[in-house]
Amino acid sequence: MKREFAVIGLGRFGGSICRELSEEGMDVLAIDADEDKIDEFKDIAAHAVIADTTDDKVLKELGIRNIEHVIVAIGDNIQASILTTIMLKELGIKTLTVKAQNDYHEKVLKKIGADYVVHPERDMGRRIAHSIISTNILDH
Ligand code: ATP
Repeated sequence: MKREFAVIGLGRFGGSICRELSEEGMDVLAIDADEDKIDEFKDIAAHAVIADTTDDKVLKELGIRNIEHVIVAIGDNIQASILTTIMLKELGIKTLTVKAQNDYHEKVLKKIGADYVVHPERDMGRRIAHSIISTNILDH
């Protein structure tokens, strides 16, 4: 069954999630406030919409409440990320994955009910460190 996702924020992280989900045949609604990003993703995602997700009227108009998993990948603007997450939670989104910028941001996101909080640079750094250690163990 084709599953529905929305990705908000199409930077390197959100853009890569959007691309991968779409290539796997998922139905993805790509959202970004920047028109250039939407131009870039309009032929990749099933739907691509220019919108500022800190406006709850806009979120409702997008029909996002019907989507089962929303990924919030707004980076630098921590306030916009938190506000968007709170409103998505209030709309009753079943699963919310949110990118955190730092530990404080992560703590707030968990408090307001994000189901999965990811910290791509830190998580990837940890993963690579473990893989370096296990490669070294195998090498010796
Ligand atoms: P990455 O490292 O993954 O590239 P980043 O931390 O540099 O991410 P940003 O470029 O700050 O992330 O934000 C990612 C995207 O989120 C941008 O394309 C930006 O236009 C979009 N964005 C920021 N605020 C909003 C908002 N309020 N509504 C919708 N999109 C937004």
